[in-house]
Amino acid sequence: MIKFNSVRFKISVLYTAILGLILVVYSAFLYLSLHHTLYDELDNELNVKASETAGTISSYLDELGYDQEFFIFAVRRVICLEGEHPEQDKIRDLEELWLRMVDKFDLKEDHVNFLDSKGQSIVCSGKGFIPFNIKAAQEDKTLFKSIRYEKRNLRLISLPVSFKGGGHYMIQIATSLKPVIHLLQIRLLHIVISIPIILLLASFFGRLFAKRILNPVVEITKTASNITHEDLNARVKAEHVDEEMKYLVDAFNDMISRLEESFKYIAEFSSHVAHELKTPLAIIKGETEVVMRKERNIEEYKKLNKANLEEVERMLKIINDLLLLTRLDYRPEVFKLERFDLVEFLKDIYEQSKGLVSQKDIAVTLDMPDDQCDINGERFHLRRLFFNLIDNAIKFTPKNGKIGITLKKKDKKSIVSISDTGIGILDEDKSKIFDRFYRVDIMDKKIEHGSGLGLSIVQSIVKMHHGTIHVTSQLNKGSTFIVTIPFL
Ligand code: ADP
Repeated sequence: MIKFNSVRFKISVLYTAILGLILVVYSAFLYLSLHHTLYDELDNELNVKASETAGTISSYLDELGYDQEFFIFAVRRVICLEGEHPEQDKIRDLEELWLRMVDKFDLKEDHVNFLDSKGQSIVCSGKGFIPFNIKAAQEDKTLFKSIRYEKRNLRLISLPVSFKGGGHYMIQIATSLKPVIHLLQIRLLHIVISIPIILLLASFFGRLFAKRILNPVVEITKTASNITHEDLNARVKAEHVDEEMKYLVDAFNDMISRLEESFKYIAEFSSHVAHELKTPLAIIKGETEVVMRKERNIEEYKKLNKANLEEVERMLKIINDLLLLTRLDYRPEVFKLERFDLVEFLKDIYEQSKGLVSQKDIAVTLDMPDDQCDINGERFHLRRLFFNLIDNAIKFTPKNGKIGITLKKKDKKSIVSISDTGIGILDEDKSKIFDRFYRVDIMDKKIEHGSGLGLSIVQSIVKMHHGTIHVTSQLNKGSTFIVTIPFL
């Protein structure tokens, strides 16, 4: 069934309409040029006939002499093939030649008139005189005209002639247009029949072609309707399709692949979150069950409460970190950036971090440029960023180590480095430590593990400031986290 609203239908209609228009214009051009050629040929033939008639009359007069009586005789003899002359022998050869000409040009079938300059018929052939308005014919110019006479279509030539004896005359020859009109009618009939047939075939094959071209779209639709979040394996096959369709199919398949990745990521992420929250809950449940087995003294209840509170705080921190990550990644517009001097800002952080390192005898150094360094940033989150890096540096640096805070300006960017002389990071872990919940397996049991969200938050805050972060590290020698933030 034809669906009028389908792309296939519209393409085939458009294609057929354009082809139809081209065919009509082209056929009209061919028809008109054929019309022109046939009339041109006929006019040439008429011209030859009229000229030959005049030429033969002239040759007769050359032989017989220029007398009015001979003139009328010559005209009648040539046009009507009538009359006899006493010196008939003189023109015998000429006559034979003329009779052959008459047969060749089929002159007996034409209306041949010989008129004086006023349009009065002097002699006319057996086919009869055509009363053609002489005024319409310019007397000194050859004129061609299509006329209708006695229900017949004729082509007429009006050729002005003059002879040595003097006087201006006119030879008019009218020949039937029937063969020309017949030929043109046949051609017109061919056109009228062939155009609809061609268009029907074109629209049929056009529809087939459009169907073939649009097949991938049908495939995509089928695949898309079969895809669910549980089954993202389906892909559209892109064999034997046109280039543009291949792009569409590839883009669709890529989109499905990305969706599959995202679903996989969400599934992994959810299981990480569940796992992270399950551990403290299991601890709270286990410890509470043990304490509840028998009557305890107040000190033991206080101890249980304290332990439970620590686990609840751990859970709260994870939930708050996750909420923050969601806000940073999906609602960056809620953060109001302001202009401030990064040098002063880092000096403050440096002062506060001195208090954090005191227990581990770690030295913190600060290296700042002399002039100020203005950036467009969000103080609260930048503090969080640098303290996360400094906390990690303290956590993964043994006693008596060193932590450096450096600020440099380069190419309209401020580059802050937080370096330490800690345990370092393996090359294979460098790209993963920014992933959510990723923690490196560390042998040193004294180092307390976090939730693995710290560096993800750092990366999101850097992105929010249109900056970049990367890490350089050497195992057991230390690591440097380099944060680049563009100026205003
Ligand atoms: P966490 O909150 O558990 O510390 P992070 O996302 O901050 O998680 O860090 C991820 C992992 O990167 C850590 O488990 C640690 O192994 C590694 N890491 C981060 N900072 C350093 C550092 N300064 N030195 C060595 N390893 C580090």
